[in-house]
Amino acid sequence: MPTRPPYIGRFAPSPTGRLHAGSVLAAVASYLDARVHRGRWLVRIEDVDEARSAPGAAEAVLALLQQLGMQWDGEVIWQSRRGALYQAAFEQLGQRTYPCGCNRREIVDSRLGTAPDGSAVYPGTCRQGLGPGKSMRSLRVRVPEPGADLVAFAGRFAGPLLHHLAIDAGDFVLKRADGYWAYQLAVVVDDADQGVTDVVRGADLLDSTPRQIYLQRLLGLPTPRYLHVPVLRNAHGEKLSKQTGAAAVTPHDEAQAVAALLDAARGLGLPLGHAASLAAFWDAAIPAWAALLAAHGERL
Ligand code: GLU
Repeated sequence: MPTRPPYIGRFAPSPTGRLHAGSVLAAVASYLDARVHRGRWLVRIEDVDEARSAPGAAEAVLALLQQLGMQWDGEVIWQSRRGALYQAAFEQLGQRTYPCGCNRREIVDSRLGTAPDGSAVYPGTCRQGLGPGKSMRSLRVRVPEPGADLVAFAGRFAGPLLHHLAIDAGDFVLKRADGYWAYQLAVVVDDADQGVTDVVRGADLLDSTPRQIYLQRLLGLPTPRYLHVPVLRNAHGEKLSKQTGAAAVTPHDEAQAVAALLDAARGLGLPLGHAASLAAFWDAAIPAWAALLAAHGERL
């Protein structure tokens, strides 16, 4: 059997505010998975959208991770400083990309509906060139025609997922109208550049995965393994997020830090009762995660 490359995992928060319980859960899952595999765990600040980045939020996220006893390996990477890499990847895509002059309203009005992640499916209006009177707003990548657009992938713990790029996303944006590189491009470039072998993140990003795999293929980059963990919801069934008013996790002492970790562990289905200290929590959580993997038929 071919041996796998040494495990490299990552946590990649967008510093739009402080972490809420849902993002702590994703951080804990990726950290546990890296530790169980005796791998490296990287932290990448996804501040590519500088307009949405809140001042001081990235520093607060890093401080929280340390307070929770989650020490990352190596240097923290900041997407806002990596524009040259995204530009190079974009240029590599060449004729597969094109300028688009459509605004959001025009795309919504085309009534192709919305992709599972809520973005409007692009009808390809500017594929053959910008229409009269239109000027470039964003840059898009072409997806294959319906029929040839199927991306199939199987996440860990999950059955195969089939996704039709043309129907579920359409030609998607790589550089946005506000001038920022799009998440889909930045994440693909960075995961490959950092040698990430295993992405463990919230299931809200499941719908983005086929677009990322498609870009990896176009750019000749390896596809990591994916594990999508549950997203936490509030009493109204909405995903915890800053927009839905989720409370920030701000433990004031070790006992509160342990409590936040125990909440995350329960959200992941780990049968942990109590822990008297951070060290005791991690000593119990790491074997519990290993047991969960074994229960899903994974061998370390
Ligand atoms: N930055 C993204 C977020 O905070 C996560 C990206 C990823 O894990 O691929 O939702």
